[in-house]
Amino acid sequence: MKLAEAVTAQTALVQRLLDGVAAIGDDPPGITRDAYGRGENEAQALIAEAGRALGLETSSDAGANLTLRWAAREAKAAPVLIASHLDSIVQGGNFDGAAGVIAGIGAIAALQAAGIEPRRDIEVMALRCEESVWFGLGLIGSRCLLARLPPGALDLPHARSGRTLAQSIAACGGDPARLRQGTPLRDPRDIGAYLEVHIEQAPQLVEAGAPVAICLANPGNVRHPFIGITGEDAHTGLPHRFRRDAALAGADLSLALERMWLAEEAAGRPMAVTIGRFHTLPERHSLTAIAGDFELSLDLRAFSADHLKALEVELGAIAAEISARRGVTILLGERSAAAPGLMDPGLIAGLAAAAVRCGLDAPKLNSPGSHDANNFAAAGVKTGMLLVRNRNGSHNPHEAMETADLMAAISVLAEWIANGDA
Ligand SMILES: [Zn+2]
Repeated sequence: MKLAEAVTAQTALVQRLLDGVAAIGDDPPGITRDAYGRGENEAQALIAEAGRALGLETSSDAGANLTLRWAAREAKAAPVLIASHLDSIVQGGNFDGAAGVIAGIGAIAALQAAGIEPRRDIEVMALRCEESVWFGLGLIGSRCLLARLPPGALDLPHARSGRTLAQSIAACGGDPARLRQGTPLRDPRDIGAYLEVHIEQAPQLVEAGAPVAICLANPGNVRHPFIGITGEDAHTGLPHRFRRDAALAGADLSLALERMWLAEEAAGRPMAVTIGRFHTLPERHSLTAIAGDFELSLDLRAFSADHLKALEVELGAIAAEISARRGVTILLGERSAAAPGLMDPGLIAGLAAAAVRCGLDAPKLNSPGSHDANNFAAAGVKTGMLLVRNRNGSHNPHEAMETADLMAAISVLAEWIANGDA
């Protein structure tokens, strides 16, 4: 069977698995597959069973990540990992994560049906707990694998069960003592390539009318979850020149950051600013008082470390200007950062060439979201990603990926493994 036909022949398998993980996560109006809990465990079991049906070896590591290995008879290079995650946020969509794991199964099934032997081991991984809603920390499976857990991470409580991450990992058959050693479960130098298929979290592919894109980079971020602005509580009649209005300072800060964003975009430097929380203090705010205190959260994302650094400098200058002008204090507070994930140029070219051979016009795009791929790229593993067209964004029940578009991504993966993986 030709490879293209062999891919199409896997549509029923792929659909069965997509429907299977949806049934496991069914939580109207959305999908909930709790990380290190019933949802993720049952989804792993379904994927493991599908892997065994294809003759793949299944194993679980100290982080309780699932690996399905298609062993090469005579491996000529280090293995290729095809991975994503099976957990979801609470009442999110079905495809964020799961589609990528299922794509790996679909690609191997197609290659087998076409009678193609892998030149090196191909491993499909279901990485644990990618979503940050469960422990306030995301990408946990890949952090475990590559020893990138921040200090104290194993003591974080699960949002639902209350068990610590260490207890949760142990309950799923993992080995937190091994993770506490702080060395990678797999040496990144022994991973030949890391590939991830993920639904796009913006409608760029809908706009472009293309089913699949080759990802150029995932953003890194700088986050300040608790920015505090302090001015002075006062009566609503106070003339403007006497006011130290924290609420208007918060508004200034947000709008100045948006102006910075639009200027950067206009200069060809893509980024994003998100103010997730933005409020006066509910216990004190009122219709008839000038707010002396204001809080907001900030997520700054961009696609290079230098750009992020420059944006932080600009943030500091903006805050200083507003503080001086409005007579308020702006404390940026706690800061966390994640490195951008740059895709490997060779893999970008290889996947693009494979897409052409599949008859696909695949644009090259930056991903709006961060993914497990970031950790592999940061560890020095050659990393590539395919983004799949998806209407309505992700992290909501209305994610809308067409199975045919996922099959297009699977065809690129399979074609790259068969003919592009030099
Ligand atoms: Zn995801």
